[in-house]
Amino acid sequence: MFGNKAINPQKYFTIVTYGCQMNEHDSEKMTGILESMGYTWTDNKEEADLILYNTCCVRKHAEERVYGNIGMLKDLKQRKPDVILGVCGCMMQQKGVAQEMKKRFPFIDLIFGTFNLHNLPKLLEEVSEKKETVIEILDDQGRIYEDVPVKRKKGVSAWVTIMYGCNNFCSYCIVPYVRGRERSRHPDNIIKEVEKLGREGVKEIILLGQNVNSYGKDLEGKITFSRLLRKLDQIENIKRIRFMTSHPKDLSEDLILTIRDCQRVCNQLHLPIQSGSSNILKKMNRNYTREEYLNLVRRIRKEIPDIGLSTDIIVGFPGETDKDFSDTVDLIKQVKFDSAFMFAYSKRTGTPAARMGEQIDEETKKRRLEQLIKIQNAISKEKNMLLKNKTVEVLVEGLSKNNKNVLTGRTDTGKIVNFTSDVSLDKLYGKIVKVRITHPKSWSLTGEMISAQ
Ligand code: SF4
Repeated sequence: MFGNKAINPQKYFTIVTYGCQMNEHDSEKMTGILESMGYTWTDNKEEADLILYNTCCVRKHAEERVYGNIGMLKDLKQRKPDVILGVCGCMMQQKGVAQEMKKRFPFIDLIFGTFNLHNLPKLLEEVSEKKETVIEILDDQGRIYEDVPVKRKKGVSAWVTIMYGCNNFCSYCIVPYVRGRERSRHPDNIIKEVEKLGREGVKEIILLGQNVNSYGKDLEGKITFSRLLRKLDQIENIKRIRFMTSHPKDLSEDLILTIRDCQRVCNQLHLPIQSGSSNILKKMNRNYTREEYLNLVRRIRKEIPDIGLSTDIIVGFPGETDKDFSDTVDLIKQVKFDSAFMFAYSKRTGTPAARMGEQIDEETKKRRLEQLIKIQNAISKEKNMLLKNKTVEVLVEGLSKNNKNVLTGRTDTGKIVNFTSDVSLDKLYGKIVKVRITHPKSWSLTGEMISAQ
């Protein structure tokens, strides 16, 4: 299917990606496919023969950006009529969006969804033969295509998808509608991929899935996420294994012990709470209560006291009262997350929450969000202050974005550390070094390297 070099090698492409790591990784797959066809990546849209927009529909803001940015391509298409413009990703998988896209932007050449990335060579062939927009949105949720080439951005870390889709139907979330039901990759294929990445010099693996805790439930045999982690923990060359995302209702005791026991599995857990109010959690269809979540955190910290814990929180969910919101504030003060991704509720057409009464006005959402961010920032800073003058182990990833004389990396618990060193990056890249923390901040730590391992 791939590796067709018939296309002129001088052709250039670029992909604009919106949204989460899943989408970023899908773009890496499309890059792999296009390079196997002889295309070359360019950062310059003016130079590109093919421009793909890989869209996200999880939040309204991302959708609005997509519409705005695609509208701006009209001028480019008029000046360069031969450029192929394509739109793909989660947004296209929503009912009616592909047709709406075609109507609003008739100059788009290709529209496809999340289930048919592997068809990209065939779709591009159709574009060259047809005069009108080619649309292919599949509902093929059952298959996993293992032979898709992937071109990852060069780096210390690599994403590896272990499962696709989600069965949870949280009432605010569009993902199960656009990514389909849970499908787990066979463990042998995951292990082979991680072994290959290790041989290629990757040091850190980030396992991806909408809910990694239900990995394996759809497979024959006794494979679970914990068992998969224990197998991956044996792989030479890989220094660290992280994963996301974990649904609290499915986080097993076995997984807690696996994180505690496996040398390469990082002491880090992203455990979205979404709301601190049991009343709102019920409306969100999250299937756990505030008390159950707090108990789970106690269990985790008992086994892994230094775990780096992060979360996601939505404020202003339909029906959220001042009391519900203050329950969320109280919960974050109790748990003291290392960090949190906090959002105002965004209505997603087609989800149950979008049809709920008691929608919260924008002003209230904004006020609650600002209040929560302020409190969490203070907690993050307080937690990071505990590391002042302490020595942490950092996997060196590169140079700091803001200061090219400073190196950057992460702790085992997922904290970003920017540090000075007498040794140059090329000697430290991909190594674990010891850094003394001198200046903790809310979102990162600053320090100086003491020694390399
Ligand atoms: S677990 Fe809930 S929030 Fe996460 S992807 Fe599935 S439906 Fe969406």
